Amino acid sequence: MRYFQKMISKESIEEIRSRCDIVEVVGSYLPQLRRRGSTYKCNCPFHQEKTPSFTVNDARQIFHCFGCGAGGDVFRFVMEYEKVDFVTAVSLLAERVGVEVVYEGGGAPEKSGNKDVLFKLHSDAALFYHRILTDSPDAAEARRYLQERDLPPEMVKEFQIGHAPNEWDGLLKRALKKGYAAEQLEAAGLVVPSERDGKTSYYDRFRNRIMFPICDHMGRVIGFSGRIMNKAEKGAKYVNSPETLLFKKNRVLFAFDKARKAIVDTRQVIVVEGQIDAIRCHQAGLSNVVASQGTALTENHARLIKRYADEVVLVLDADAAGVKAALASSEIFIAAELAVRVATLPPGEDPDSFIRREGADALFSRVAEAPSALDFLIDAYQKQDDVGTEAGQMRVVQAVLNFIAQCSSAARRDQMINHAADRLHISPKALEHDLRRTLRAQLQQRSAHAAVSESVQSPKPQKTYPREETALLELLVHHYHEVHPLVQEFLPPYLLSDPTCKKLVDILMLDPPETLTDGFHEHDEETQKVIARVQVEESRSIDAETTAVELVQQYILIFWKRYIECEQAALAQRTELSNEQRFKETTRLRHDLHSLAKGWDNARPMLEMRLHSDVDF
Ligand code: ATP
Ligand code: MN
Repeated sequence: MRYFQKMISKESIEEIRSRCDIVEVVGSYLPQLRRRGSTYKCNCPFHQEKTPSFTVNDARQIFHCFGCGAGGDVFRFVMEYEKVDFVTAVSLLAERVGVEVVYEGGGAPEKSGNKDVLFKLHSDAALFYHRILTDSPDAAEARRYLQERDLPPEMVKEFQIGHAPNEWDGLLKRALKKGYAAEQLEAAGLVVPSERDGKTSYYDRFRNRIMFPICDHMGRVIGFSGRIMNKAEKGAKYVNSPETLLFKKNRVLFAFDKARKAIVDTRQVIVVEGQIDAIRCHQAGLSNVVASQGTALTENHARLIKRYADEVVLVLDADAAGVKAALASSEIFIAAELAVRVATLPPGEDPDSFIRREGADALFSRVAEAPSALDFLIDAYQKQDDVGTEAGQMRVVQAVLNFIAQCSSAARRDQMINHAADRLHISPKALEHDLRRTLRAQLQQRSAHAAVSESVQSPKPQKTYPREETALLELLVHHYHEVHPLVQEFLPPYLLSDPTCKKLVDILMLDPPETLTDGFHEHDEETQKVIARVQVEESRSIDAETTAVELVQQYILIFWKRYIECEQAALAQRTELSNEQRFKETTRLRHDLHSLAKGWDNARPMLEMRLHSDVDF
């Protein structure tokens, strides 16, 4: 943290912060964010909840969740949401508002600088391929191919489809001229090195192919998939970018960026296999479609989807490999607590060919009528296995149990048990009994890894703060001018017990609340949370009857009561005191507590005396 703070200049951080509206930024990630009175609210993205306790405060440019305690400024939000470090969060937001990040000493830090260059390089390469396709006389064959495949110009434009020229150095030459280094192109996976006579030269990875840019969920190009146009040509049908700093194939879903809005609106994702399938679906008006690009779906994919949707519909080939893949993917999504259904197409069809042959509505209804993954699984077994035989029945039951065991929600397991029992003509009780055995077996298998992953995954328990200390901070932040003098005079720092709250009160005694938000990123994470919380949490006890001043007086009395009670307790331990001294002290403390109980006007002289006498309490 410290290290990073040194890297980006303070002015730059504040400049970027001032240009980002937290409501707008958070809203772009969480479209459910809605105005509620003076703040914005929605369900918290950092913990599971059913009623919104995630709050964004427009005026103070801060977020806070009453449920899990997450909180901070716009940078903190991006850090937590995108799971990135501070520098990356600042860079992402800088990019968003079109501001250049300025580093202390001028230079860019090695790591994130690299990424920035790779993003730029990919974006330039995509534009290069796209321009070739649309403008170059040499791309006539490519344009004809797309026409034959019925991919119209508006789709070519929307997906920035391109053409890699039929040259060994088409992109290389161009990028070098633009000032990129061959090593950067290699790091981007766009060129391949070749050694000859001890010398390294480079050639384009993608040659004479239709180019599909692959974007991350924010719409930045991070890789490419290139298709040959001609069956006769040698080489794989598709060539993809290799794994790079940006391109992680087990995380990315083709077209996710373009589908994001529709996914959020429908809370549903439709997953197809091929890029062209996804493009065709978007063309046909199914906008919540993404493509797995032929790779196995992973937990990372599930996690990405889970952030935006509740349900996945898999549209996969009906052949044996397709069924197996569909079942494997379903288990991963079920484990991520997503609802899953599986739509099948007639043999030999994919969504692209199916829409072209039967029309978009035919695909819509396949999706609408798709059975749940559990039904799909039972159907698949009943088709291939003789469920009439005992062995066949045992196989399907075990498959069903293994499947249901992936689900961590007991309620959902229960539903699935009842449904499967019904379909398999077994009693739910028997199935449930066997499920427990399956779960136990899985638990034993996993227990070796469990300890490790548990400690990584379980969120830190939320720290609790003394209520009166955060309430005092709230009052200071929201009613600074009325409250500050009283706190200054009557609440010495030693009355506060929590170090974070104490530190913040100390700061507020010297500077107004604005300073807390200005240098926000300089505070440690815990302090940021407390600041966010007290900024957002308007003290609710202030109403027409109780003013901020009265309220802070009450709190000051509470702090003193707490303190004097401690003195009372300490008295019992003070063995050096004579009986008479002890009696005097006891009486004095009791008297002080008594005046506290009688309210501010009564207690004030006692407090003044305590505060202005030189006696060390
Ligand atoms: P098309 O309609 O152009 O033939 P498709 O998407 O129908 O493409 P499939 O063979 O069904 O082609 O493959 C599905 C997806 O799997 C492709 O879109 C591509 O992302 C990926 N893929 C296919 N073949 C390869 C390959 N040889 N190497 C890497 N990925 C591939
Ligand atoms: Mn196809």
